[in-house]
Amino acid sequence: MNRVVLEKQQKTGKPVHFDNSKIEEIRNRIDVVDLVSEYVTLKKSGRNFTGLCPFHQEKTPSFTVNREKQIFYCFGCGEGGNAITFLMKIADKTFPEAIRDLALKTGVVLPPLPSDKETKQRNLLREGIVNINFKASQYFSRSLFSSAGVAARQYMQDRGLTDDVIKQFRLGYAPDTWHSLTDFIEKSGLSPKLAEQAGLIIPGKEDGYYDRFRGRLMFPIENVFGEIVAFGGRMLDKGEPKYLNSPESPVYIKGRNLFGLNKAKDDIRKRGFALIVEGYFDLIALWNAGIRNVVATLGTALTREHLDLLRRYTIEVIALFDPDEAGKKALSRSLELFLSTEMKAKALILPDSYDPDDYVRKFGRDKMEELIILAQPLSDYYIENVLGAGRTFEDKREMVRNALDFISKIRDKKEKDLFIRRIAEKTGLNEAILRGEVYQGSVRQDRQTGKTKRVPNVNHDLVELHLIQLMMEYPQKIIQIENEHVLDYFLQPEIQHLGRKIIDAYKLLGFIDVGVILSSHENLVLRDRIFQLMMKGLPADEVMLEKVLTDNVRQIKRKWYKEQHQQIKIRLNKAQEEGSEDLIAKLLMEKKNILLKEKELQS
Ligand SMILES: [Zn+2]
Repeated sequence: MNRVVLEKQQKTGKPVHFDNSKIEEIRNRIDVVDLVSEYVTLKKSGRNFTGLCPFHQEKTPSFTVNREKQIFYCFGCGEGGNAITFLMKIADKTFPEAIRDLALKTGVVLPPLPSDKETKQRNLLREGIVNINFKASQYFSRSLFSSAGVAARQYMQDRGLTDDVIKQFRLGYAPDTWHSLTDFIEKSGLSPKLAEQAGLIIPGKEDGYYDRFRGRLMFPIENVFGEIVAFGGRMLDKGEPKYLNSPESPVYIKGRNLFGLNKAKDDIRKRGFALIVEGYFDLIALWNAGIRNVVATLGTALTREHLDLLRRYTIEVIALFDPDEAGKKALSRSLELFLSTEMKAKALILPDSYDPDDYVRKFGRDKMEELIILAQPLSDYYIENVLGAGRTFEDKREMVRNALDFISKIRDKKEKDLFIRRIAEKTGLNEAILRGEVYQGSVRQDRQTGKTKRVPNVNHDLVELHLIQLMMEYPQKIIQIENEHVLDYFLQPEIQHLGRKIIDAYKLLGFIDVGVILSSHENLVLRDRIFQLMMKGLPADEVMLEKVLTDNVRQIKRKWYKEQHQQIKIRLNKAQEEGSEDLIAKLLMEKKNILLKEKELQS
């Protein structure tokens, strides 16, 4: 039987094996329009169906579904794929989970999972760690409400945490001794080895273990499914470090979890944006005050993975960082990240050096909400806080240089133009000149890196794109395309790379899965173009298809030869200037060969 490991499983770390023909059968039976209609109100619009995108906030529908091609795409936020991808995204399911659900829906019978020993072991380990974390959280919680936890409870009370909130966040206390958790684990018959792998206890020099967390308030860190994957511990008395997190484990990777996301995700969807804070207490204080669309980064700098997690729920974020230098630095570092992920970000620095925790406890929810509404767009924040005042001419020149550099990283054109206008206002420079500089600057960079290497995204070659579209829609032609080595004639490496990916995937799977090929990591502009072509393109019959394909291949090759001639011409000119006879002869030979091959093509 032909079984494959699909790359989608990276999310859970467990490879799952499915029989290709079963996946194909499910794909054939499911209708993407029916499936999407369970979640989105769709209206017929020409050949497609459109509705309000469930993955980002919008007022006019840019979410498009095409029945003939069984694909969906949002021209607003770039989410796209097929029925399987849709279910994964909307219901937060892994690939195997989505396949099982759709199998039930379509009546396809999946064989029981083959007992892959390694997978089983990994799953067991995962479950074991999550379970022992849960048991530990219960233990910490009991300690908090025992005599050992008096001071910890007082501390929480002083910070305004109600018993309700303590329960909701499963907060606890690790007593200030070396063996309390270790003893508990041994007495309860839990595996110390597993507790070690969970990062809860540490092997001592001689036999036995000791507790990692001692004399600390304990914050269980949940993943989006509400499983406890790690702990954060805050020192109750003086001592270092103030905050201590669990080490990485099979269920916990730093920079990939946002504290509170599991609890906040519904409110984030409802309110259409997320607040990002730095600390546990900031988050809990806001939550306590009734502001619940909030997540915390837990001391680590904001990462791309954090934003990828958040993007499932919203593309609008307000970063609420501490007013101290460290907080400002963290915010500056996040700017580029926000821009490169095309998220709409605002920054909020609280007045009078308050951190979110102090502020909301002192002034309450309404005042806080007022500030949230007034949060500055990132561009304003950048101009006012990062760019500097630019008093002298030298300052100003430096300022413009930095600004241009920064603007070049903004991917969204609207945002880019807005930024240029603001910079112009701030520096007193002519907006048109600045705009010219920005757009010309990007062309110059392209030339520096070589003609065929890096092409501006907006100018994706339509003929090459069209061939990619054909490969996606008519996979039966892929092998023919491979045999003709058409991809070798592509001038745009990014598109060529995608083409090779399609061929590889087809040879491996025997079918093309739009969701896998155009995964969210692919260039957004490129995805957009391909989905657009697919949504617009009419289905072709075999005769038509063959004709279109032949035309397309010929155009691509012609274009390639033209480029080669040009290159040789440039090199010949150079060689003649330098008077290098050998090189001239060699280039003339090359030219002849190219002409010969080109003739073959035309005959
Ligand atoms: Zn969308």
